[in-house]
Amino acid sequence: MDSNAEQGATFPNCLQLMETLPTGVLLHRAGVILYANREMRRIFGLENADSLENRPLLSYFQPESWKRIEQSIAGLKPDEPGGIPAELTVIQANDKEATLETVTTLLPSQEEATYCTIAKDISQRKQREDHIRYQANYDNLTGLPNRTLFLDRLQREVVRAQRQNHRVALMFIDLDRFKWVNDTLGHAAGDDLLRHVASRVQGCLRQSDTVARMGGDEFTAILPDMARGPFAERVASEVLAQLAAPFTLCGQEVLISGSIGIAIYPDDANTLDELLRNADIAMYRAKSAGRNGYCFFTPDMHAEAQERMELENDLHHVLERNELVLHYQPIVNLATRRVVGAESLLRWLHPKRGNISPAIFIPMAEEIGMISRITEWTIRTACTQAHQWRQQTEGSDFFVSVNLSCTRCRDLSAGEIIQNIFKDTGLPPSALVLEITENILSENAERAMSMLNHLVELGVNLWLDDFGTGHSSLSVLKRLPVNGIKIDRSFVPSSHSDPETIVLVEAILSLAKSLNRQVIGEGIESEEQAGFLRARNCLMGQGYLFMKPEPAASFASVLGKTFS
Ligand code: C2E
Ligand code: MG
Ligand code: MG
Repeated sequence: MDSNAEQGATFPNCLQLMETLPTGVLLHRAGVILYANREMRRIFGLENADSLENRPLLSYFQPESWKRIEQSIAGLKPDEPGGIPAELTVIQANDKEATLETVTTLLPSQEEATYCTIAKDISQRKQREDHIRYQANYDNLTGLPNRTLFLDRLQREVVRAQRQNHRVALMFIDLDRFKWVNDTLGHAAGDDLLRHVASRVQGCLRQSDTVARMGGDEFTAILPDMARGPFAERVASEVLAQLAAPFTLCGQEVLISGSIGIAIYPDDANTLDELLRNADIAMYRAKSAGRNGYCFFTPDMHAEAQERMELENDLHHVLERNELVLHYQPIVNLATRRVVGAESLLRWLHPKRGNISPAIFIPMAEEIGMISRITEWTIRTACTQAHQWRQQTEGSDFFVSVNLSCTRCRDLSAGEIIQNIFKDTGLPPSALVLEITENILSENAERAMSMLNHLVELGVNLWLDDFGTGHSSLSVLKRLPVNGIKIDRSFVPSSHSDPETIVLVEAILSLAKSLNRQVIGEGIESEEQAGFLRARNCLMGQGYLFMKPEPAASFASVLGKTFS
């Protein structure tokens, strides 16, 4: 008598045991089920069926995966231990799929080959793995491939293009006003915009193309098997048109635009890295060419980009290396011809490249985040200098003007910094003029307005620079708290000027008078121009007629001077 019987326990028979196992057990012969235990029936989605005897296996498994396993188990030998492991896909009764990890063995001592497949349902683990793989390869917000998957696909397309002698176009797409949307309408609207953009861009491309989101507002598109001819141009134009059509965000119509750079493999690049870099360079060029456009890479852009990068690096160190200087151009009372003030104009004395124009390095400084420090340096230097000059000429109401960049105007701390500069230098606020342009209203107008009002409260004068060159000058004039306007030099008439320019300037002058704003004429090069402006109540002027912008030391010679 065995020990179990002695203890009075009933030993379960083999079938009972199999029914309680948490693992699927399947006995089969010649593709037909002999027995499926309870867990196996559950996996098939047939838990209510008592038996699956005699049913064909092929109706439960995905046919290819089952046929594959049938072939490999046919090679099993009865006297050899071990089984065939496999991952199998089950089609459940409700048409859902389950993934099984299985091992199939050949049962010994059977006349006809009989197999036992042991199966574990790993569907949940599979789903988790799929989810992780999805997260690693797709952008959560837009559902587009992310940078990782994009690089992988680009790599494949480049290899394929090499093999098949094809061309691949790579597009970098950047949104032009995304930051503005995020700042003014909030992040939810920004997210919404990105989702809309993703689907619009996708709509412009073929099934075989890849659109990806690289992060932020940067998208890319891979166009493999690119036919010769204007295919990429057509796609780029269509993408731009789609981006330029209005979006509705938070119930508000929003207009944005995009800039696209295109590089083609192998025409423009030998390697993946080069292709990426060149598409980026072309995109940058498209952006600086005025946005809402596309641009193909050309080899000369590379040298230019290299130069630009070096210049940007140097610009980071411009203050500690003392390479900035201010030049001053006299501002003259056109009636008395006395020097009443000076416009300070920045110069970058680059050790290798010589004098670099502010028109080049100011926008660059805005982009690389150096503009705040440069502006602070400029205002401090100009105020210190002006204070010194005022003290040299007793009772002087000499003033200095400083050009304020648009991005700086939106920085709320600027007012506080300027207040400190007055404290440190001793210059009264009324002796400082800040020159702004109407572009400051193009982005985040409210913040700019509150900053400008703060400056006015401090007692600083504001002048609107380059008046007449913008698009909305008149309405802007009404909105901005400026007390002077500078007529751009393209509007200062000369003897060659057409009658329309003259009419325009006259209109500006009379408008300024009725709005009680001072007018300052820029770029006066001849007595004739000075005379014209003076005769029409233009109070002040500056230009080469009096003096070119000069370093402080040379400017000092015209301090308090009256031009003859
Ligand atoms: P802007 O403020 O309109 O400055 C006037 C520009 O006209 C200066 O060019 C000046 O040298 C030039 N100019 C003056 N008189 C005459 C003339 O009679 N004939 C001609 N043809 N030109 C004349 P510049 O110094 O190259 O400055 C260019 C622009 O760079 C400035 O235009 C201003 O927008 C910007 N800028 C200069 N300094 C600064 C600065 O410190 N900060 C910022 N944000 N921008 C600055
Ligand atoms: Mg100016
Ligand atoms: Mg100007």
